[in-house]
Amino acid sequence: MYLTNKMTILKRTIIWLSSIAIFTFIILLFIGWEVRETIRHNGLNRIHNILNHKIEAIDNYVQQRYVSLTNITELFYFASRHHTIFKRDFWNHSPESLQNKLAFITTKNDFYDIFLISIDGDVLYSVKHEDDLHTNLFTGRYSRSKLAEVFKDALKNKTPYISDFYFYQPSHDYAAFIAQPILDNGKIIGVVAVQIDNKEIEAVVNDSSELGKTGEVISAVIENEKLINIFATRHTNFFPHTFLMLPQDNPIYEAVRGGSGRKYMVDETGENSVVAWSYQKELRCGMMVKIDESELLYEWYKQTTSLLLLFFIGVTVVFGMIIIALRSFAKPIQELSHNALLISNGHYDIEINSSEYDHEWQLLTHAFQKMAIEIKQKMTQLYETNIALNTQKSELEELNRTLETRIEDKTHKLQEYIKIIDQYVITSQTNTDGIIIYASEAFCQISGYSKEQLLEQNHRIIRHPDMPDDFFKNLWETISNGKIWHGEIKNRKADGSNYWVDTVISPNFENGKIIGYTAIRHDITYQKRIEELAITDPMTDLYNRRHYILTIQEEMNRAKRHNHTMALMMLDVDHFKLYNDTYGHQAGDDVLIHIAKILKLYTTRSGEYAFRLGGEEFAIIVSDMSDDEYLYLGHRIRNETEALAILHKNNDASQYVTISMGIFVYRPESIMTHEQLYKEADEQLYVSKDQGRNQVVIKISSL
Ligand code: GH3
Ligand code: MG
Ligand code: MG
Repeated sequence: MYLTNKMTILKRTIIWLSSIAIFTFIILLFIGWEVRETIRHNGLNRIHNILNHKIEAIDNYVQQRYVSLTNITELFYFASRHHTIFKRDFWNHSPESLQNKLAFITTKNDFYDIFLISIDGDVLYSVKHEDDLHTNLFTGRYSRSKLAEVFKDALKNKTPYISDFYFYQPSHDYAAFIAQPILDNGKIIGVVAVQIDNKEIEAVVNDSSELGKTGEVISAVIENEKLINIFATRHTNFFPHTFLMLPQDNPIYEAVRGGSGRKYMVDETGENSVVAWSYQKELRCGMMVKIDESELLYEWYKQTTSLLLLFFIGVTVVFGMIIIALRSFAKPIQELSHNALLISNGHYDIEINSSEYDHEWQLLTHAFQKMAIEIKQKMTQLYETNIALNTQKSELEELNRTLETRIEDKTHKLQEYIKIIDQYVITSQTNTDGIIIYASEAFCQISGYSKEQLLEQNHRIIRHPDMPDDFFKNLWETISNGKIWHGEIKNRKADGSNYWVDTVISPNFENGKIIGYTAIRHDITYQKRIEELAITDPMTDLYNRRHYILTIQEEMNRAKRHNHTMALMMLDVDHFKLYNDTYGHQAGDDVLIHIAKILKLYTTRSGEYAFRLGGEEFAIIVSDMSDDEYLYLGHRIRNETEALAILHKNNDASQYVTISMGIFVYRPESIMTHEQLYKEADEQLYVSKDQGRNQVVIKISSL
């Protein structure tokens, strides 16, 4: 037997569980991925919002500085109406209270310094009293500074604006300036400028409270076709106004040119990051906010990792539990199947230690062991029976061989016998329809036919016309009733001659039914020839008187048996003595031979005989005809004799040879001997002679 399924229960369970786990894992991955995509999408929005907040915050901050500057300018204008504030002396001796107030205003408005500048460019006052104080912004050391730039633009009454952040020597730091003219009736009487520390605005720009750990803000401008940062960035050591080594496709370039947008990208360090960029109008710079994607997704990573960890722990625990549970099932099953295999291989002494198994398994194991013992006993019995059977088989085989040898010998002998029988015994077989299915060699020889000519032919092929129909009717009746027929048969040879056989025909049976017939014959032709000679007249070849005596009684009996009539016809040649005398004895013999031939012609059927009773006297026996037919037959014979036209000049009845005939018709009910019958016919012959010869006289038996 062939095991088509090598899958164990344990394996199958593991496969099922693994499939479920893998399926669940895939679902989890899918959900996780969807969550990740949502977080990424939200991340874009978030970074965009942060950027907008910063741009707004800077706007607000700068706007407030403008307002504060306007307030301070107002303050200086009012002071100018009561004091000579545009004279250096005033500030040399200015009340301490004013100086304190201005210092307070500076701090309060988040300015680094406040400058009062005369329209001649003299820096008359500054809160910090740095190097720039008392210098001239047209001609002095700082005439090329951003302070001088905004001062000059204020004189031209330009709308106040915040300058670029540049390193400012007096403060030893980066600073930007805003200036506003002090107007008196539309006339500029001086200029107030404020210095904004880059640290303060940098704090606004780089406010990283919403930017996590990796978030960064870059603010940059293009100077001399180079990207320059204007504030130090959070994670780099770039100082303001250093060249930024960023690739040309970095969105900051777009921001500097006034564009805006947001996207995910790989930054210059190769990190995946989310960026948003826009243009900052107040500071005239491009701004870009950027957070590492990894940070954005950190929580997601953490949660997903925890979830997967939990999932794997869960799967491991479930797997473990199921495997442990299955093992308690699988172990007894494995042991039982292992032992069943042993039994199937003929090892019946099995022992299973089931003490640690559960109750049901123990029951099964015990039953199994009992079964094995039972099988062993039965197998032992079978084995013993088998040995006995084998011994018997050997004996039988030996016997069989002996028998086979004997049968071979017998068969050989039988074949020899059959050959002998075939050669010497005239035998044949026919089926129930009379078709020849076997013909022996001897049969072929006697019949003159070859086997091929005989087989498949009807048995009638050898039938001789002399044999009467009654004969065969009787034969068939006998054998078809399952009886053996025995008799002598005259058969016809292939060349037309005949032969006689003493024949025994016996039916062949199969399952009580006749399937054909076997004929065994003995050649009696020679004997029959002698017999025939004894009853034949040698000159005319007609039956002789002896045969007449044998036949007449039989025919009388037959007529009685078959209840038909029979006629005895007596013939005598007219004036034969005279013929002999006239034509010679030899011519007389020829006449007798001619007449005999006519008689033969009219007695061809069975039960018809022609005899030469002696000299020139003949007799005919015919039967089963009407009286008229007998008479008619007589006339025909008489006519035919005359018709031979043998001249007989001394015959007074005709010029030719004639005969006279007397017929006596015997009836089955007639009571007479054959001698009486002969006498009756002979009397009629004499009547015919008396009536003038060449006559036929008939007499019907009265009883
Ligand atoms: P009828 O008409 O009265 O019979 O006249 P018939 O001469 O025939 O008379 P019958 O019967 O007495 O004569 C018979 C003759 O037939 C006698 C004999 O010479 C002749 N005969 C008998 N046997 C033979 C034979 O074997 N050969 C020949 N050639 N003649 C025979
Ligand atoms: Mg005669
Ligand atoms: Mg005669």
